[in-house]
Amino acid sequence: MVDRQLDANRYALNRRVLVTGGAGFLGSHLCDRLIDRGDEVLCVDNFFTGSRTNIAHLLDNPRFELMRHDITFPLFVEVDEIYNLACPASPVRYQFDPVQTTKTSVVGAINMLGLAKRLRIPILQASTSEVYGDPDVHPQTESYWGNVNPIGPRSCYDEGKRCAETLFFDYRRQHDMNVKVVRIFNTYGPRMHLNDGRVVSNFILQALRGEDITVFGSGEQSRSFCYVDDLIDGMIRMMDTPRDVSGPVNIGNNGEFTMLELAEAVIELTSSTSKVTHLKLPQDDPRRRCPDTSYAADLLDWKASTPLREGLIRTIAYFREFV
Ligand code: NAD
Ligand code: UDP
Ligand code: UDP
Repeated sequence: MVDRQLDANRYALNRRVLVTGGAGFLGSHLCDRLIDRGDEVLCVDNFFTGSRTNIAHLLDNPRFELMRHDITFPLFVEVDEIYNLACPASPVRYQFDPVQTTKTSVVGAINMLGLAKRLRIPILQASTSEVYGDPDVHPQTESYWGNVNPIGPRSCYDEGKRCAETLFFDYRRQHDMNVKVVRIFNTYGPRMHLNDGRVVSNFILQALRGEDITVFGSGEQSRSFCYVDDLIDGMIRMMDTPRDVSGPVNIGNNGEFTMLELAEAVIELTSSTSKVTHLKLPQDDPRRRCPDTSYAADLLDWKASTPLREGLIRTIAYFREFV
């Protein structure tokens, strides 16, 4: 009797959370954290850039369910919350099939918003610092509207994510929905893809293999790198805000580094003999990027706390297993 009561309570308390893109880098960490805190997770992924390996440890967990599905198609499930992360994130991957990238951002957002609307549940969008494009304002505040090329090779991602934000706020205005938008800045950590061309994974692999470190352009362009655990913490805090809070809110680490500084740190931390080589800077590559995170601090009582070197050490340890 007591056990049945406990079970009933647990059933009543368990939230069923949909994570789209749950087999990806960030999505798999989010699934872990939600499961750890007692939620049930429905992970939806088409495995375009995600992998079963990222979630292999969850497959036998009774509170975890995996569904292979492409969110550009309608999805009819019953859940209590949606985190919409499905979308390739690295320039190499999102430019591989740019039309599908825009479809995933835009049609995928419409489907997930339609699902949230039918169920009357909160939905969080994983937006990106790329909505600021090559920014004229530094550091980037949420009120800055951005500087994006609408027809360049990065546009499928930048404009797709911008349109998704538009949809989120229109669904809020038009249908009084509980929407949340986080603008994620460059994030790194274990389970990053080994070969998707992002700077942190490229530099670590090159350093561990003793190959040249490929700095694009002069290497003076900057990025701000957030360790994955910090990012997931901020994202969950945002989902848990009251109904009238929608953002958008920047989530990132406001330590700013040039690519040359990153290369030096990786070489030092791997004790590598690699040398830096310079390759052509890709078109429309943003020159500077650093979040103003004061809104996140006020709203979520959140700040990224993992220093770059510490995060790099953990990420390097993960990459060593594959080299
Ligand atoms: P990722 O590529 O590792 O994960 C994306 C996941 O979405 C993959 O598992 C992929 O298979 C899945 N997916 C792609 N298209 C899909 C579709 N149509 N239907 C279903 N699943 C689909 O990337 P990530 O780094 O984990 O990024 C997750 C989200 O966070 C993305 O929306 C990305 O735009 C955003 N983001 C990430 C970063 C970062 O630095 N990693 C920065 C800004 C924004
Ligand atoms: N949708 C979905 N799952 C649902 C409800 C809706 O995938 O449970 C999709 C549906 O296919 C639709 C989209 O979400 O194309 C947008 O739904 P909405 O209700 O906003 O628009 P409508 O159905 O009126 O076009
Ligand atoms: N970059 C680099 N060498 C690489 C990969 C990337 O110098 O091997 C640079 C890239 O030109 C950009 C920065 O690192 O200036 C971050 O690139 P990434 O693709 O990781 O992310 P994004 O450009 O989307 O911020």
